[in-house]
Amino acid sequence: MCADRKKTEKGKGAFRHSKSLGQNFLKDSSVIAEIIEGSDISENDLVIEIGPGMGALTEMAADAAGRLVAVELDKRLIPVLEERFGSRDNIVIINDDILKTDLNALIGKYRMIDGREAEHVRIIGNLPYYITTPIIMKILEEGVRADSITAMMQKEVAERIAAPPGNKTYGALSVAVQYYCEVTKICDVGRHLFVPQPKVDSAVLRMDIRSEKCVEVSDEKAFFRCIKAGFGQRRKTLYNSLCGASGMTKELAGKVLAEAGIDKDRRAETLTIEEFAKVADAYAKAR
Ligand code: SAM
Repeated sequence: MCADRKKTEKGKGAFRHSKSLGQNFLKDSSVIAEIIEGSDISENDLVIEIGPGMGALTEMAADAAGRLVAVELDKRLIPVLEERFGSRDNIVIINDDILKTDLNALIGKYRMIDGREAEHVRIIGNLPYYITTPIIMKILEEGVRADSITAMMQKEVAERIAAPPGNKTYGALSVAVQYYCEVTKICDVGRHLFVPQPKVDSAVLRMDIRSEKCVEVSDEKAFFRCIKAGFGQRRKTLYNSLCGASGMTKELAGKVLAEAGIDKDRRAETLTIEEFAKVADAYAKAR
């Protein structure tokens, strides 16, 4: 079997993996078990799976869940999934782009399981690398009514998401995701455990979506604008980054940092989420 080809589950012809759809299929059952266990799925839960591929995670996740709804973009995989899971009445396969899917509508449609509301809504997936951040930010920014996201992603992206202040990988993505979620690393996954083998290693993160954000901010738009501006030019001090990118005058940036109690010479990567909230509140007040 050549590296980028694999027999389909149906045994008919060969499946050509699409690089542009990020199709690196997981082949290690112990990693699959670790992901499912780390997701904490119970029989009363609704699971949304992003990108089931040929169903590597689907079967074990659906065994643990009340219902599993899998959203797969590649229409060539739909008959493969239907053949494999057609007899399972707790698995729903949907052919759609996850970035265009109305997830709250989907959850609304499927959250009643055997006449009872699902206890938790858990999102899982071995995410396509090319859209990992857009998928996670869509779920968080749209306020999707889910309890957790357990996702496999490129190891470097996982490190950026989980990084604490002061770490060299701490950035706008860390602050944004940690604002919405409590982040826990489940495991690292070597590149040799995928077919075809990608050029990078992976890691699995569990992101528990907070019912209340970890800090209160008076204006979320101002909060995210300050974060984006602060990390826009990492080598600069926060003061200089704010002046440059956010349209703040030097006078306003100085006033905002003084009001927030943040030293002008600090760099964005040293600020905690609470400190960013103070900067954003001072900015929202001073505008
Ligand atoms: N879950 C499978 C596994 O672990 O073997 C496949 C994971 S593979 C990394 C990513 C999957 O996401 C592929 O099946 C790909 O076709 C699908 N995909 C890519 N872009 C997508 C999108 N926008 N919406 C839904 N699925 C997508």
